[in-house]
Amino acid sequence: MNPSTSTRGHIHVGYGLGKVMEDEKPTSPSSDSPDDEPVEKNPALEVEIQEQVDSGSKEKSPSKKKKTSSKRKPKPIAKRKVRLAHELPSKRRRAIKEAMEDHKAEHKDEWDRSSGVKTHVLMRKRIKPGTMRSFTIPLLDTNLGDSWNIPITVINGSRPGPTVTISAGIHGDELTGPSACSHLLSNTMTDPVRALDPQHVAGVIRILPIINLPGYRNMQRDFPDGRDLNREFPGRIKGSTTARVAYRVWNDLITGTDYLVDLHSAAKGRSNMPQVRAYLSDAHSNIIAKAFGIEVILDSKPPRGSLRRVAMEHGIGALTYEGGGADSLDQESVQVAVNGVLNVLRTLHVIPGNPTRPKFRLLASGSTWLRASEGGLLDMHVEPSSVVQQGDVVAKITDPGTPGLSVDIVAPKDGLLICTATNPFVTAGAPVGHFLPLAKHLDLVLDQCDEESRFIVAGSEEEPVWREEDIDEISLEGEWSGGSVDAEWRNEWVSNGAGSESGEAGEEIPRRRTKKKTNK
Ligand SMILES: [Zn+2]
Repeated sequence: MNPSTSTRGHIHVGYGLGKVMEDEKPTSPSSDSPDDEPVEKNPALEVEIQEQVDSGSKEKSPSKKKKTSSKRKPKPIAKRKVRLAHELPSKRRRAIKEAMEDHKAEHKDEWDRSSGVKTHVLMRKRIKPGTMRSFTIPLLDTNLGDSWNIPITVINGSRPGPTVTISAGIHGDELTGPSACSHLLSNTMTDPVRALDPQHVAGVIRILPIINLPGYRNMQRDFPDGRDLNREFPGRIKGSTTARVAYRVWNDLITGTDYLVDLHSAAKGRSNMPQVRAYLSDAHSNIIAKAFGIEVILDSKPPRGSLRRVAMEHGIGALTYEGGGADSLDQESVQVAVNGVLNVLRTLHVIPGNPTRPKFRLLASGSTWLRASEGGLLDMHVEPSSVVQQGDVVAKITDPGTPGLSVDIVAPKDGLLICTATNPFVTAGAPVGHFLPLAKHLDLVLDQCDEESRFIVAGSEEEPVWREEDIDEISLEGEWSGGSVDAEWRNEWVSNGAGSESGEAGEEIPRRRTKKKTNK
């Protein structure tokens, strides 16, 4: 069922053994399946998608010896090929096309600019048109103990339009989302004439920066009862603590939303390159996934109980953004998140301006985890967004208990690492890298890499918009002669310049220019 590739690992120091490293679909051990995706929690899903095309030729677990593997019938290459863009499986492409065609007929009257704008009401708080309001909402109904008041900000635009919710901190130790939300809520965004000025907004923007507040304070992913909120939606009013929280979040904070952007990071011990996850045959999700404006989109059905899944089932266009890792702040991932949210809002015409777009998109229908075949300490040779070629060493494992011996983990194909381990301690089977094989278009990806073969995600290199006020402003004295900027530049040193009034004596006036000329 689980297709897996075997790749030769290297054991050095003369043992001459050809040990087999495994890169395989995750077998979802609960300890290392904490991402926000079926890729981890329900690994069969991505396989399912691939098997639709792969005519179901099943593969046994990888053999231990290279000898035997050469005897096996060669697997069809298509089996493990991750398809890009137009190469998505034909069944998926058809489903996506049909969904997008059906969508064209849709129209919501209440978004018409002529329909007039209303006061937005959320949990009995009233937000007037053209204003922004921040308040807290209790996650639990209690008379005793902590009710966990979480912050929320609602921007109600001065014109009608869709309601877009930005959620973050569902996993308490993932800080990319909370940081991105705090930047979105900063004055550089919400002041008059800025990107999120309520007067210029059409529709409603709800921002939930830290949903798992107790987890955030304790730097923990789960709620205090040990449950993962992102597997409990839509929740139950009389269920477990986390189920009650899920019920409150879903029924009181998300309902009424047209689009949802859920911001995440990798779980502890890993780091993600910026990527979007969405089910592309859901038209609304497709639109915002592409609107986000970055290259890597994983086409995946959301796991049961996740906010994305429940949202999608209720007709809400939903995407999960992943960037950076838990307990850390990768500023590039934060910046990509902020840009992505603004791009989504621009595409939906909630805010003015044109969204930025990537040069190309990698629409992946599957991915692979590279795993350690041995336990020990990891020396990673790559980072999230590293592009590797078949046979490149991705990481080296050594063990202090077995001096002189090391094992290489090598790239099974050309591809892109969308997630890598940051925790150096590995046991046999531990995931080391989340790998997106690139059957074609490697040149396209390499063209957009830095000198160390790391892929540069669209928008990650721009100056962060929220730091705008840090830009130095230098006043240059002078006056426009005749009041026109196109006219002659006049200053003190012009009239002092060797008494020349011809204006032709260029070399005498600006001293630096004179120097440069002599250097030449
Ligand atoms: Zn998460």
